[in-house]
Amino acid sequence: MGDANLYGMFAKAGPKPFLVEGDRVLLRYDEIEGAAARIGHRLRSAGAVPGDRVVAQVEKSPEAVLLYLACLRAGLVFVPLNTGYTSSEVAYFLGDAEPAVLVCDGGRKDALAEVAGPRLAILTLDADGGGSLMNFLGTEMGAAEPRLAEDLASILYTSGTTGRSKGAMLSHGNLAANARTLCDIWQWRGDDVLLHALPIYHIHGLFVALHCALLGGSTVLFHRKFDAAAVVQDLPCASVFMGVPTHYARLLEQSSLDADDFKNMRLFVSGSAPLLEDIFAKFATRTGHKILERYGMTETGMIASNPYEGARVPRTVGYALPGESVRVAGGNIGVLEVKGPNVFQGYWRMPKKTAEEFTEDGYFITGDVGMMADDGRISIVGRAKDLIISGGLNIYPKDIELLIDLMPGVTESAVIGVPHADFGEAVVAVVVGDSSEGEVMAGLDGQLARFKQPKRVVFVRELPRNAMGKVQKVALRETYKTLFLT
Ligand code: AMP
Repeated sequence: MGDANLYGMFAKAGPKPFLVEGDRVLLRYDEIEGAAARIGHRLRSAGAVPGDRVVAQVEKSPEAVLLYLACLRAGLVFVPLNTGYTSSEVAYFLGDAEPAVLVCDGGRKDALAEVAGPRLAILTLDADGGGSLMNFLGTEMGAAEPRLAEDLASILYTSGTTGRSKGAMLSHGNLAANARTLCDIWQWRGDDVLLHALPIYHIHGLFVALHCALLGGSTVLFHRKFDAAAVVQDLPCASVFMGVPTHYARLLEQSSLDADDFKNMRLFVSGSAPLLEDIFAKFATRTGHKILERYGMTETGMIASNPYEGARVPRTVGYALPGESVRVAGGNIGVLEVKGPNVFQGYWRMPKKTAEEFTEDGYFITGDVGMMADDGRISIVGRAKDLIISGGLNIYPKDIELLIDLMPGVTESAVIGVPHADFGEAVVAVVVGDSSEGEVMAGLDGQLARFKQPKRVVFVRELPRNAMGKVQKVALRETYKTLFLT
């Protein structure tokens, strides 16, 4: 069998710029190999051997991208962590992943050394590229480590909204299959220029966006953080932008966003959370571009996408990707299940949990509730665990949110279930906008079965979201848990 190391599949694009920031070329394609080989040697000298994990809690930088590539090249398993995690949270990941090396910001080294224990090798990588990982790099590792398709390339910890955070094991074969499919369906071109403003500790920025660029040999306009004004400034030079829904909402707030800026642009992609229809419509009016919404998750990579050519329908995530089989469990609305070369190898050191998440015939149970139209078009209705059971009846929050979101004065809403003495759970709508409880209630009356109507509507300035734009319903349920308990 041939070598399945994902690293070897990336484009060799010679002196072409890979990462660009403003007028500055940060990294050329022909510089990747030497740098990845030197970092690989550094990691190996610190004691890491193929198959070992390298945990990285570092800011987004060209060197952080190189660290990822070096791990692939050296056959090491890359485990990126959200930079927001505290030392005690990192301690959990270190205990679970048992890495050979931890790479962290120099400023956090002492605090992390304390929780890491004396045996773990710690190298530092600062936001500006300094630190012991990159200083005095000399010797290069030999050739890239051959890998089998099922060998692990990365472990990404799920955000862990319920219970312990789980390490999703992604193999070289998983990542390669999904990246190739995305390049194909989105008609990726070598001369594409990707504006990259996503974090690189998450599947969206690290795999979906970077892999497309690396397979295509495209230049990346590298934004270390999402800053709407800076993105608008760079858009005229870009041909592809990938963002979470919040990014699109922030872009629309920029008065300088102008249809003339999009001469080179061919594709806006949104994912990681549902895109509001209102934002889809406003963005189309302002820019002439219909945002392409896709759907996926850490464990599976991308699962479905609206078509590149053909109708991009808001509130749907399009069709199952080629090579993947997607089905709805139990009828026309139910939990989505998926099977294909993209589906992960299981949760790290959790065989029981892994087994629970697969059906007997090998489909991964996503936990997302969806609907599939006769032509195969998929809509996401919510998370199974967000299902509200009130008076014994099942209520999908999305049904209610969609109606509230269309009301005048409402920007958006999140519907949750909170404990209630009579009903078990009661429906509460948390709304952002300029309206009132009475107006929202009146607007729903006659449109929605009585049992689905919220018992309370509360107004907030904004919904709690994580960095990927996901509404934190767990936090909302916590905030309002005593609303009906006196
Ligand atoms: P993560 O593993 O952090 O990427 O989160 C994956 C979850 O994000 C999925 O299981 C969905 O619940 C949600 N998600 C991703 N893309 C979409 C989308 N286009 N529409 C609705 N939910 C989405």
